[in-house]
Amino acid sequence: MTLTSLRQQYQDGTTTPAEVIKTLGEKISTEDTEVKAYLSHDLDQALKDTEDYDASLPLAGLPIAIKDNINTFGAPCTCASRILEKNYTSPYNATVIDKLKSAGAIPFGRTNMDEFAMGSATENSALQLTRNPRNLERITGGSSGGSAASVAAGTAFAALGSDTGGSIRQPASHCGIVGLKPTYGRVSRFGLVAFASSLDQIGPLTNSVDDAAMILQAIAGYDSRDTTSLDVPVPDYSATINDGVKGLKIGIPAEYFGEGIHEGVRKNVEECVQRLKDQGATIVPISLPHTEHSVATYYVIAPAEASSNLSRFDGIRYGNRATNATDIVDLYHQSREQSLGPEVKRRIILGTYVLSSGYYDAYYSRAQKVRQLITRDFKKAFTKVDVIISPVSPTPARKIGACEGDPLQDYLADIFTIPANLAGIPAISVPCGTTSFDGADDLPVGVQILAPHLGEQMLLRVAKAAEQA
Ligand code: GLN
Repeated sequence: MTLTSLRQQYQDGTTTPAEVIKTLGEKISTEDTEVKAYLSHDLDQALKDTEDYDASLPLAGLPIAIKDNINTFGAPCTCASRILEKNYTSPYNATVIDKLKSAGAIPFGRTNMDEFAMGSATENSALQLTRNPRNLERITGGSSGGSAASVAAGTAFAALGSDTGGSIRQPASHCGIVGLKPTYGRVSRFGLVAFASSLDQIGPLTNSVDDAAMILQAIAGYDSRDTTSLDVPVPDYSATINDGVKGLKIGIPAEYFGEGIHEGVRKNVEECVQRLKDQGATIVPISLPHTEHSVATYYVIAPAEASSNLSRFDGIRYGNRATNATDIVDLYHQSREQSLGPEVKRRIILGTYVLSSGYYDAYYSRAQKVRQLITRDFKKAFTKVDVIISPVSPTPARKIGACEGDPLQDYLADIFTIPANLAGIPAISVPCGTTSFDGADDLPVGVQILAPHLGEQMLLRVAKAAEQA
């Protein structure tokens, strides 16, 4: 059920927020045993929160699941890592949580993710494996896999995730729901545990485009506590969402439809484009020539920033501390060695390497230049078109375990989502059909829509047309 219809049921008196929280609790205890989207939840607190129900608020009484890297006062915030699994309780609310609460919403549960949001399958969680509700042998995608699975399984009506290189859009695509990454700076990152600070954005995972707009409306806006937050007014996203695509120009980048795409993905995305054309949009072939360098660029910049951001997890300031260390340096080494997972260590080593004085120019500095070229590709394209459409992921959800020991395979599959993060532009994943892949039928496929910087109104308008088509 969508947030929009749940809100309608509250207004009609068909159900109440307290009833809904109780039902969610029952559903989680019976159905989440297999999917395992949740790391923890506090339904007693959620039930108390329903007492503040104020029908005049836009998200009154609507329960929302939260990725476990967004701080919520009094709740755990594990980032699915052993280092924060015990001994850490959030002492404050992230700005998005304050904003959700003041809009009347009820954050009630903490969803699984790849450790520190590093991954594309949620298999890098140190705490549990989340399965795709559409096919339990398949990955959910990642890193917001728990958020996507909770919404797809109906154990949440909507969830927040974070997207550094695709972590909202890719799991949304694999689980058959909507996932929106806003413009960099549109939503405050204050209280989001930092992975790669120049790329991270918080956004909604929902059952409909209208729901994504509703949540974005509540969480967007300037925040003096995030220095990269944009001081630009928030438009009314619902005002233009039903305007349709007639007269709009949709860019189709040649580089996103080339080799390596699964035929079923290509077919579903192309059919979606055709339906938008039938509704009066003009299709314009475009080129984003630096796309092929996006994965390499991202996997230099993101680990570089991660290596710096994660230096705070040293066993002193946060989380698990080694007990038998001989001195302070040994304490750092042992605490990190014992409590960080293999992918996190790989990124820290890689990031430290590309930032080291001997290699800085060859890797980090060069990656920053290529990032500019990728950004310029989009700027140029958006002088000709209103939005760009592409697949979200080259394939539907793969089998669990299929990339074990071969992280590069998963890195490469991020090729269509990473460019939006490097350029800082908004992008959304909308379900556009299903296909067969590697022995399974009916696997969801997502179409990605990208818009210019701060073009969320346009993005949501085209997304809604695609959803209805
Ligand atoms: N899959 C990418 C990575 O592993 C993106 C993750 C994300 O967006 N948090 O870094």
